Amino acid sequence: MGDVAVVGAGPNGLAAAVVMARAGLKVHVYEAADTIGGGSRTSGLMEPGHFYDVCSAVHPMALASPFFRAFELSRRIELRIPEVQHGTPLDVGGAALAYQSLDRTVQGLGVDGQAYRRLMEPLLERVSGVVDFTSNQLLRIPRDPLAAVSFGLATLDQGTPLWGRRFREEAAPALLTGVMSHALGSQPSLSSTGAGLLLGVLAHAGGWPIPVGGSMSIAQAMADDVTAHGGAIHVGERVDSLDQVRPAEAILLDVAPPTLARIGGAEVPDRYRRALEAFRFGNAACKVDFILSGPVPWVDPGLAQAGTVHVGGSRLAMAESENLVAMGKYPPEPYVLVSQPSLVDPTRAPEGRHILWSYCHVPANSTVDMAEAVTARIEQYAPGFRDVVVASKTTTAAELAEYNENYVGGDFSAGTLDLRGLVQRPVVSTVPWRTPMPGVYLCSSSTPPGPGVTGMPGYHAARHALKDIFKLRVPGLGV
Ligand SMILES: Cc1cc2nc3c(=O)[nH]c(=O)nc-3n(C[C@H](O)[C@H](O)[C@H](O)COP(=O)(O)OP(=O)(O)OC[C@H]3O[C@@H](n4cnc5c(N)ncnc54)[C@H](O)[C@@H]3O)c2cc1C
Repeated sequence: MGDVAVVGAGPNGLAAAVVMARAGLKVHVYEAADTIGGGSRTSGLMEPGHFYDVCSAVHPMALASPFFRAFELSRRIELRIPEVQHGTPLDVGGAALAYQSLDRTVQGLGVDGQAYRRLMEPLLERVSGVVDFTSNQLLRIPRDPLAAVSFGLATLDQGTPLWGRRFREEAAPALLTGVMSHALGSQPSLSSTGAGLLLGVLAHAGGWPIPVGGSMSIAQAMADDVTAHGGAIHVGERVDSLDQVRPAEAILLDVAPPTLARIGGAEVPDRYRRALEAFRFGNAACKVDFILSGPVPWVDPGLAQAGTVHVGGSRLAMAESENLVAMGKYPPEPYVLVSQPSLVDPTRAPEGRHILWSYCHVPANSTVDMAEAVTARIEQYAPGFRDVVVASKTTTAAELAEYNENYVGGDFSAGTLDLRGLVQRPVVSTVPWRTPMPGVYLCSSSTPPGPGVTGMPGYHAARHALKDIFKLRVPGLGV
C-alpha cells in the first residue's frame, strides 16, 4: 500500500493519479475492469482490423481543458482536426457546417451568418476565460468576469423559448441545437445551452480533435505518465470498502455517488449518505457502431468531411425528440450523434473500409435496440447508407450500465444535467470533491465540472487532496 489510492481508471481517476504521482507520492490505481480507460476505451469491432470507441470518440477538451493543456496531451498523442468540426444536414436541403474558421462558418450560414457571429464572437474572443469558467464549479468568482458575463448572456439568449429571436432561417439554429443536444435534457434549457455553447465555441478555437488510435490513447498517455512516476495500476480489482485500500493516506474515488456511499460503509455520515443515495441520474444513450464498406453517402458533400454529424432535422425537430426522451418516451425519429473517426484516422479500419460511431438518447435503463431507428435517420440524409453497412453492433442503455457501473441506468453524464444537477454535484459545497470522511475524495464526473473527457474533476480532487493532506501544491505536469 502507498500514500495514495485511486479507485477507478477512467479519465478522471487517471488525471488524479497523474497529479498525485507527479507530486512524488506513491500512487496505486485500482480498476474493476480488465482494462484501464473507463469511458475512454477503444476496442476491436466485430471484424479483424476494425477498432471503435466504446464510449467517448470526439475530444474538444483534449486541447482546451486546463488539465490536458498542463499535461501537454497534444505533445504525447496525435490529435487530428477534421476539415469540418461538426455539421447538421437540413430538411430544406444542404447542411449547416461548423468550420474551425468562424468566418468560413458565417459565410455558409446565409442570412443568419452575422447573427451567429454576434453570438459566438464574444465567446471566441475570451475563449480561455470561458473554458476556465466552465472547467470548475459554478459557485465561485470567475477569473475572467467578462468572459463569464458573455457566456451567461449567450446562454440566456439561446436557452429559453425566445431562442429563435435572432434567426430567420433554419441553418444556424439547427447547427446550434445539434451541439446543445449533446447534453441530455429538455430543450431549450440553460444547462444544455451552456454545454452546447462551450462545445460550439471550441469548434472555432482549437477544433474538435479525434485521437489517432482512438480514445484509449488519451487514457494510455495518462497511465504511462503515472507508471513513469512510480505509480502502479492494478486492473481487474474492484474496490468494495475503504479498508481494502488502506493505509493509503489519500483515497480518490472515480466512482458514482451511490458507489461511494457503499464503499464508505459506516464511515459515511448519515446526511452525506442520504445525499449520495438520492443523487439524481438522468436519461441514457443507446450506442450503434457500424462497419461500412465505404464512406457514408451524405447528400451534402460537406458532411463527408465532418468529424461529427448531428442528425436530427430542424431545431424544433431536435428539441421535440429530446423533450420526448426527457418525458421517458422514445422519439420515432431520434436525434442521432454520429462520428466518422476513420475519415481522419486510418488506423481504425482496413483500407477502403470505414467505421461509424453513433448513439441516440433513450430513457434510463432502456433495453431497446435503436439500430433500425438510427439507420433510418442517417439514410434520410444519406440515401444508400444501408448499402454500405457491412455490420452493426448495438449497446443498449442497460448494457452501457453493465459495462461501466458509473453510468447508472446508462446515464453517461453521471448525473442529471439540469441547473440543479450542475450545482449539486453531488452536494452543494465550495469544495464538492472533498467528502466528510477525512482523506477521502470523489473525483468522478459526478463532481464539477461534470461529464466529458476533461480530466478536470480528477485534477480538482487531487489539487485539494494535495493541499489538505500533504500540504503540497500541484506540481508541473508537462512532458
Ligand atoms: C456512449 C458515450 C459517448 C460519449 N462520448 C463522449 C465524447 O465523444 N467526448 C467526451 O469528451 N466524452 C464523451 N462521453 C463521456 C465520457 O466518456 C465520460 O464523461 C468520462 O469517461 C467520465 O470519466 P470518469 O473518469 O469520471 O468516469 P469513467 O470514464 O466512467 O471511469 C470510471 C472507471 O471507474 C471504474 N470503477 C467504478 N467503480 C469501481 C470500483 N468500485 N472499483 C474499481 N473500479 C471502479 C469503472 O470500471 C471505470 O473504468 C461519452 C460517454 C458515453 C457512454
